[in-house]
Amino acid sequence: MDRRELVRELVAVVGQDGVLASDYDLLLYQYDGSIDTARPDVVVLPRSAEQVAAIVRLAGVHGVPVVARGAGTGLSGGCIPVAGGILLGFARMNRIVEIDLPDLRAVVEPGVVNLHLSQAVAHERLQYVPDPSSQKACTIGGNVGENAGGPHTLAYGVTTNHVLGLELVTAEGEIVQVGGRALDGPGYDLTGLLVGSEGTLGVVTKIIVRLAPLPEAVKTLLAVFESVRKASEAVSRIIGAGVVPAALEMMDAVTLRAVEEATHFGYPMDAGAVLIIELEGLREAIEEQAEQVGALCREVGVLDLRVARDDRERALLWKGRKEAFGALGRLCPEYYVMDGVVPRSKLPEVLDEITAIAERYGLRLANVFHAGDGNLHPLLMFDSDDPTAEQRVREAGAEVLRVCAAVGGSPTGEHGIGVEKRDLMPLFFDDADIEAMKRLKAVFDPDERFNPGKIFPTPGACGELKPRSVSVASLAGGGW
Ligand SMILES: Cc1cc2nc3c(=O)[nH]c(=O)nc-3n(C[C@H](O)[C@H](O)[C@H](O)COP(=O)(O)OP(=O)(O)OC[C@H]3O[C@@H](n4cnc5c(N)ncnc54)[C@H](O)[C@@H]3O)c2cc1C
Repeated sequence: MDRRELVRELVAVVGQDGVLASDYDLLLYQYDGSIDTARPDVVVLPRSAEQVAAIVRLAGVHGVPVVARGAGTGLSGGCIPVAGGILLGFARMNRIVEIDLPDLRAVVEPGVVNLHLSQAVAHERLQYVPDPSSQKACTIGGNVGENAGGPHTLAYGVTTNHVLGLELVTAEGEIVQVGGRALDGPGYDLTGLLVGSEGTLGVVTKIIVRLAPLPEAVKTLLAVFESVRKASEAVSRIIGAGVVPAALEMMDAVTLRAVEEATHFGYPMDAGAVLIIELEGLREAIEEQAEQVGALCREVGVLDLRVARDDRERALLWKGRKEAFGALGRLCPEYYVMDGVVPRSKLPEVLDEITAIAERYGLRLANVFHAGDGNLHPLLMFDSDDPTAEQRVREAGAEVLRVCAAVGGSPTGEHGIGVEKRDLMPLFFDDADIEAMKRLKAVFDPDERFNPGKIFPTPGACGELKPRSVSVASLAGGGW
């Protein structure tokens, strides 16, 4: 690759102020929220799909990778350019293109910050439902990349359930549309395939999403328990009784103390765990549900059950939960967050096992997670000044995923595979499965241009594969 020539040609596409190539700038773009780092050769900040297409075509000419980046809040190294190349930053493609009120749809560019869409439609009593805890910063393009979840996905589903169509740039540098505003388009569900593909199949340049009405009433409860085990039992009972709260989140004792010191909400400092239980719907229905949930919590010995009295208290409660990772930063210089999913009924045993793993590796542990989904986020604290710490953290993380695999779980509920879990994929998929996924990747991206080094185990872990060249444009279609 002639880097100087590439930079010159990129400047011709996006202008001088759209290309970053100094050592200092590249250093800043080597991070996301995970612990892996790698520097791109150049960062480009396009303003349109046409510019993205031209950049992808240039990447083909120069034979360099293209890695899409939203806000870089990912927790699995998804936007880390492990093979160098062009990092495509979407900070300037952040327009809400259209809000279609009659059809309850919005069309957005990928760089729109998640929360900004809900804020833009709040005056119409509408919302964009997927609400990752990072929603103040992360982008809808990044959410599509990772198929992001959030506290409210227990009742409403993850990103894929709210995305109806995509515009994307293919490996050939063509702009195509898949899906559309209407439901259940004919043919293969390419939108479903692309959501969660971690930027490995194409670069998304527009997204059609559903909007949803805000509920008539919301009730948020804080249930206090003596232990994580008791709180987990309450989770199983609530769901087992057929109540599906809008959100059912758990924080353990370590997290609670950090959050309370940061927010001063009044979280109990001496509790073993709390559940935040949010009920939404018609006013009468949620009053009934709240009573039922209270009774179920009492059956497992809840110590205290509080209800947020008004919107201010409710917002504070959620602020504590959504900023919990940040609050835990007060306890340690660095941490590593895992993202396994287990059947809800296995939560108590799996959480005990994770505690034992952290102890074995001499690591401090905190748990804050989407309990209703069985989506665990054990957070292992470390200090990288300790030369053995990072290795211990990685090994402990791998053991956590082995436990998830052993109980029939998944390696990710929402953070993706990225670099972090690629070599653990064989725990969950056999060689034939991984080969099938590689074949699919090769249909979209025969030259492995898009985000190489992600999802698939590093060579040696499974067999090599000959890609077949089929243009994705021939598969695309649908009523955009
Ligand atoms: C404090 C904190 C809390 C979090 N809480 C949650 C949570 O509750 N739920 C959750 O799901 N995640 C959570 N995350 C993880 C992270 O915020 C999500 O994965 C989010 O979806 C990433 O968005 P981003 O814009 O930062 O994307 P990035 O990290 O920049 O990229 C993520 C992936 O998407 C791909 N991508 C980005 N843009 C495009 C595009 N235009 N076309 C194709 N691919 C693209 C990238 O290549 C990469 O593979 C949290 C992270 C932090 C730091």
